[in-house]
Amino acid sequence: MKVYCDLHIHTCLSPCADDDVTPWNAVGMCKIKGLDVIAITDHNSALNVRDAMAAGNEYGVAVIAGMEITSKEEAHILAYFEQLNDALAASDDVYAHLADVKNNPQLFGNQLIMQNGDEFAGVVDKLLITSTDLSVDEVCELIARHHGIAVPAHINRGGNGMIGALGLMPFLPEYPVVEIVKHLPCPDYAIKGRFLLQSSDAHRLEDIQEQVFALEVDEPTAKGVFDALKAKMNV
Ligand SMILES: [Zn+2]
Ligand SMILES: [Zn+2]
Repeated sequence: MKVYCDLHIHTCLSPCADDDVTPWNAVGMCKIKGLDVIAITDHNSALNVRDAMAAGNEYGVAVIAGMEITSKEEAHILAYFEQLNDALAASDDVYAHLADVKNNPQLFGNQLIMQNGDEFAGVVDKLLITSTDLSVDEVCELIARHHGIAVPAHINRGGNGMIGALGLMPFLPEYPVVEIVKHLPCPDYAIKGRFLLQSSDAHRLEDIQEQVFALEVDEPTAKGVFDALKAKMNV
């Protein structure tokens, strides 16, 4: 069966996202947009995933636990996990590898942690949009260690896409699944033979995508999408 997805959504935990993209607002907007399965992927942290999952249960939207990790080359890599606990453990691991730079909310924006139904539960100290000290390979190892799957984010967009960050997209069998930005040019060699995800990378509620990208899955759940992606990794 077919499910509509947006597998790259930020919440108010990401300093560059609007403060009103709380987990419940984000998931509520996904419901309005007609999405079946989404992933919450804040920069270098998964601390708002639990509350987004609670919202998902309430609204009938399946939520994949995710994160967008920055490598030391400044490549953005999406991590998807089947279990919340794996995502939270990976989040702790990534946090320890982030530069020791304190967030300046006036400059970069707030990093709001929400719990128990959009209740403010604190802020993250370290700036989440710096790089980790991990290479892209090490980021992928970290994700695998926590039983997740790694998908290079927006490979054809600027210095944070893998093509820009590394100067060249690694060849298959590396990264069989990648996210591309539809409206930007992308060299053929980088996408040939790969499965392409199209997501919004929304940092504002209104940017969450509509029913423009669907995946074929066995069951319309977070596990169904996770398993479908995992199957595409084995090429
Ligand atoms: Zn990104
Ligand atoms: Zn992003």
